[in-house]
Amino acid sequence: MRRYEPEQIEPRWQRVWADERTWEVSNAPDPGHGGIEPAKSYVLEMLPYPSGEPHMGHLKCYAIGDALAHFRRRRGERVLHPMGYDAFGLPAENHAIRTGRHPRGSTDASIAEFRRQFRSWGISIDWSRELATHEPEYYRWTQWLFLRLFDQGLAYRRDAAVKWCPTDETVLANEQAKDGVCERCGTPVVSKQLEQWFFRITDYADRLLDDLDSLEWPEHVKTMQRNWIGRSHGAEVVFHCEELGTDYPVFTTRPDTLFGATFFVLAPEHPDVLRLNDSPEVCSYVERAAAEPPEQRGSELREKTGIALGRTVTNPVNGEEIPIYVADYVLTEYGTGAIMAVPAHDERDHEFAQAFELPIREVVRPGGDEDGPDAAAGPAPGALPYTGDGVMVNSGRFDGEHNLIAFDAIVDWLAEEGRGRRAVNFRLRDWLLSRQRYWGCPIPIVHCERCGLVPVPDDQLPVELPDIQDYAPKGRSPLAAATDWVETTCPSCSGPAHRETDTMDTFVDSSWYFLRYCDARNAEAPWDPEVLDGWMAVDQYIGGVEHAILHLMYARFFTKALADLGLVGFEEPFARLFTQGMITRDGAKMSKSRGNVISPRDYVERYGADTARCYMLYIGPPDQGADWSDEGVGGIHRFLARLWRLADEVAERDGEDAAIEGAGLGRPTPLLRKAHWAIDKVTADLRDRFAFNTALAAIIELVNDAYRYKDDLLGSAEGTAQLRFAAATAGSLVFPFAPHLGSEVYELMTGTRVWEQPWPEADPALLSAETFELIVQVNGKLRDRVPAPADASDDEQERLALGSEKVAAQLNGGEIVKTVVVPGKLVNFVVR
Ligand SMILES: [Zn+2]
Ligand SMILES: [Zn+2]
Repeated sequence: MRRYEPEQIEPRWQRVWADERTWEVSNAPDPGHGGIEPAKSYVLEMLPYPSGEPHMGHLKCYAIGDALAHFRRRRGERVLHPMGYDAFGLPAENHAIRTGRHPRGSTDASIAEFRRQFRSWGISIDWSRELATHEPEYYRWTQWLFLRLFDQGLAYRRDAAVKWCPTDETVLANEQAKDGVCERCGTPVVSKQLEQWFFRITDYADRLLDDLDSLEWPEHVKTMQRNWIGRSHGAEVVFHCEELGTDYPVFTTRPDTLFGATFFVLAPEHPDVLRLNDSPEVCSYVERAAAEPPEQRGSELREKTGIALGRTVTNPVNGEEIPIYVADYVLTEYGTGAIMAVPAHDERDHEFAQAFELPIREVVRPGGDEDGPDAAAGPAPGALPYTGDGVMVNSGRFDGEHNLIAFDAIVDWLAEEGRGRRAVNFRLRDWLLSRQRYWGCPIPIVHCERCGLVPVPDDQLPVELPDIQDYAPKGRSPLAAATDWVETTCPSCSGPAHRETDTMDTFVDSSWYFLRYCDARNAEAPWDPEVLDGWMAVDQYIGGVEHAILHLMYARFFTKALADLGLVGFEEPFARLFTQGMITRDGAKMSKSRGNVISPRDYVERYGADTARCYMLYIGPPDQGADWSDEGVGGIHRFLARLWRLADEVAERDGEDAAIEGAGLGRPTPLLRKAHWAIDKVTADLRDRFAFNTALAAIIELVNDAYRYKDDLLGSAEGTAQLRFAAATAGSLVFPFAPHLGSEVYELMTGTRVWEQPWPEADPALLSAETFELIVQVNGKLRDRVPAPADASDDEQERLALGSEKVAAQLNGGEIVKTVVVPGKLVNFVVR
């Protein structure tokens, strides 16, 4: 008997697909058969960041996307399934700093390894559209798009606080400043004001929020996006500082509690803190706070800290002077970086007031809605903080009113006085896109003393990244060291000028790559609008939930901004989104420090790509996390080997007897029914949901049944034909998950290529009336009812009846003298 040898099978099919460019798809719609244009389907997995080699998360993502791409192709759709690399970024830059070698070297080596492994996994990619964001032919258009946003005023510069390492003299990304110290040298991180580039994403906050309703995305992802945008309705109220003559606007969702404001708090990052008080104590508090992660600072559990600044502001509703504090529980991310503190009606303000012995004044008392559910169940009057609705107290002329009525009245009154207005506030901030790093897309702007910021003309793009000697930052962007490159002439006045030395956040590169795939080789424009309209939007986007906020938000912003510029004809890039769960090992996230990292390469080399891919999809529902087990891999491998051996055996039998070739399938048997059941089940699992695991389970059942009936069936030409059909069907159905084995088995059984065949359709006649209830009698008396296949033969009916335990008990060793079989109805044993 021959062995299943994926190491032989897999490279052979990979060569066919590469040589014939099987998965390439043209931008010119194929008129199709019978002149009907096939539907387009853009299946896209998030582009990988090439660092080292692919990990298990990649294998899962691409196994999911590929199954879907294959399924849709064979259902007659034109499928676009491209691949590229998010090639700029920090790990390559850090590597360059350590080794002194150009980051392009390690990046390109990693891309080559990703490409090699993706090919060895047999992923059906249209390689003619491959791109990498660090190639000048790609980032030329990233720069071009930046300039279009700049022209529109959507890219601008202003001062902003950054995390800064005083030793390395460099800006740090959040992930480089864990626990408030520099990841590289351990120095405590400080906050520093630097002029930075921003995208005006806040202009799109309403649309980014409202358009979520139109998307078929997982609800939890939409919720995360909604919370990130964080739209709230309330009022902006101005508190005045008499001593400095400064107005401090605050945003509050509770203007009805204004009479309860007993102090005022600035975030440590608020630009006026040091103006109000620059004592060493305040300075060090501000520095410390700036280095801490906002999640920790905002936490309710944390003990409240702060310092009184020795100044006051005036509460506009009652003229009270209230003290100003700086405290790290207030974040600049939200509102204006300043709050009015109402300790009676806010948890955190309440804790702070208790810690600092500040007055707590109740202004809303439970009640006032006698029939409401709160009236009886609400907290006892006076239990503070109280954050519900009720009746106004201690609030001057608003006393006795319901707080929701007073809400509007107070805002109207403030507006008349010029001390406030109705306002909507967003948690979303503008997108800070400039990075003081080398390995990124250069920002195509020239600074001219006479003309200011001057865009590099389109025909001079790309502004290529110059080669430098030292990648380590020294108080400025590494690019500043490339003097010949920095010093240039102003495109506008031809006077001396210098280039922008910051590079772009890599999220900019990945905010439009899905557009470029549609027309990846276009040298004249980022895309041809007609081609783009032919493919976009992405019909199915697949990726990790860790990208649920930033990447998806930025890509949506880009798409909307480009729609407003008339450059694209749609508002949303990703119609449907699927987020995959994480693969763990021994119940824990894989990480180098835990020593539990496994590489797809090891499994592909040992078992073949088909096994690794199938196991990844069989391990559980793909949107959920799953724990990798080597035993499970072995089980899937044995199933694939069984399918291959079945096909091999049938093919051998075919070869022995020419009569079998062309034999009809004959009358339906349980195996034929099982094959049609499997077709129906796998189709529904792939079409309606991402139930790859239950689809694979159905194919396994089919193969098990084929083995159960094999010896009986191999005896006849019709039986062998039925086995051949079952094996071919299993090969056809398993193809989206195990493309090499699926192709091999299908070709052995039919002599044709499975991907050129339409997806199989179940025969409804073979799906219905599958079984009937067989009546079993002993000496004419009903003893049992057992399920039997609708087409069971007389022998089969008899066998099933004999198998009944109740009948066995009745027979009790007696001799059967006669057996009466009524086909499709009953079996009667006459016993003596
Ligand atoms: Zn440092
Ligand atoms: Zn100039």
